[in-house]
This record gives sequence, C-alpha cells and structure tokens, in this order.
Amino acid sequence: MTKDEQQKLLESLRKEENEILSELAAFAKKDPNTEDGFIVPFPNEGSGIDENAREIEEFERLNILKNNLVTRLRDIRSTIEKIKEGTYGQCETCSVEIAPTRLKVMPVAKFCMDCARQKPRSA
Ligand SMILES: [Zn+2]
Repeated sequence: MTKDEQQKLLESLRKEENEILSELAAFAKKDPNTEDGFIVPFPNEGSGIDENAREIEEFERLNILKNNLVTRLRDIRSTIEKIKEGTYGQCETCSVEIAPTRLKVMPVAKFCMDCARQKPRSA
C-alpha cells in the first residue's frame, strides 16, 4: 500500500470514527468508568406493563447497537494507530503481510486469511 493510499484510508477512517461517535451520542452517554466508555440510559416510556416491556426491548436493542458501534470504533482506532506506527497491513498473529485484496474489502482486518480462519469470530 502506497503512502498516498494510506493517507486516504486514514482520512476515511477518521471520518467513520466521527460518524460512529455522533451515532453513539444520539442514544448513549459517555461514561469513562465503564469498560467500553459508553452506557445506554434506560429508556423511560411510562410505567405500564406494555411500556415496561417496550423499554426492556428497546434497552436491549440499543445495547446491542452500542456494542457493535464500540467494537467498530476500537477496530478503527487501532487501525489508525497502526497506520501511524507503520505496521498497517501486518497480521497480528503471524506478522505476515495481509493480502491487499483482503484489506480492500476489510480495511480494519487484524489477521491474515489463515489466522482469521482459526479465529472465526475475529476480523
Ligand atoms: Zn497470520
């Protein structure tokens, strides 16, 4: 990957970072005391049984959304760090160069195809 391409990637990652932060700000609160830095306030739609059920459903939905966004945010930030350090595109497990075609579809990939196959739930 050329310097120019890395610069473009860096810009698009920063843009996405900001988009995620504003998405999070729409329903979650920053909380430095929690592990992922954000909490979802419990929604309050009323005290009826229906309303309570809706609140719980909404709360769960928002927490799943928050977890997805925070995970994405972490991937983006660690990718930004790697670009800065000059280690971008290296597999975190075996240090091999990750295939450019893989990075194209998944710019935040941490592992090469071989290692990713052994870690089915990681990028
Ligand atoms: Zn690897």
